[in-house]
Amino acid sequence: MRDTWWARLAEGVSTVLDALMPAPCVACGRAGAAFCEACIAAIPPVPPPGCDWCGRSLGTTPACSPPIPRATCDGCVGARPATPKTRSAGAYDGVLRTAIHAFKYRDRPDAARALASLLVAPAREVLRGATGIIVPVALHPARTGERGYDQSALLSRHLADATGWDRANAVARARATPSQIGLGRAARFANVAGAFRALQRLDRQVVILVDDVTTTGATLADAARACRAAGATEVVAVTLAHDLPVGRP
Ligand SMILES: [Zn+2]
Ligand SMILES: [Zn+2]
Repeated sequence: MRDTWWARLAEGVSTVLDALMPAPCVACGRAGAAFCEACIAAIPPVPPPGCDWCGRSLGTTPACSPPIPRATCDGCVGARPATPKTRSAGAYDGVLRTAIHAFKYRDRPDAARALASLLVAPAREVLRGATGIIVPVALHPARTGERGYDQSALLSRHLADATGWDRANAVARARATPSQIGLGRAARFANVAGAFRALQRLDRQVVILVDDVTTTGATLADAARACRAAGATEVVAVTLAHDLPVGRP
């Protein structure tokens, strides 16, 4: 994949500046690292047990004692779900929520490398020893223009550096979608249906989608649809955080 020369230059300048004047931790504000070790150690895990497919916390069934063990959540029961098998670095809460918010909305693209390092273990888990091609769940260009960077593309680049796997900007948003915030599960799937299109063939490839946060998996599902339509044999996904409280459908 090609990067524009000016993007590479800007990143090089940014790396030098970071070394000279390290920005404070995105979560606690202490100087020394973009996302400090103490905060990384405090990342809240997705409460186990997790759904074997989408990774969301299953919680327990309070009416049953002992709880009935289940392998998949209500959203993944039945026919093979459209959502790709997904694993996340933690729950969208606490220091991880603070860090992702700063990364996305407070102009902290320098945190991408530290955040991407959190994706290595979930990526290896979801790929089960296979090698995948890393594909960012792209923002709409208008959103990238507002923010100045695409957080999923940055995470993908650093995940590729950390693993040695190939990456490709293989999907794009064919249309801008309204915010998913506040929408229920069905409305989220309807909101993003058909939003993505593939930019290249992915024949016989195992694709690992990369995004910052997953809630119902609706966005990942449509990006996965576009990858499969382009020939991918399997699509899995990894995100920084899983945002679904226990028991919410
Ligand atoms: Zn910190
Ligand atoms: Zn599930």
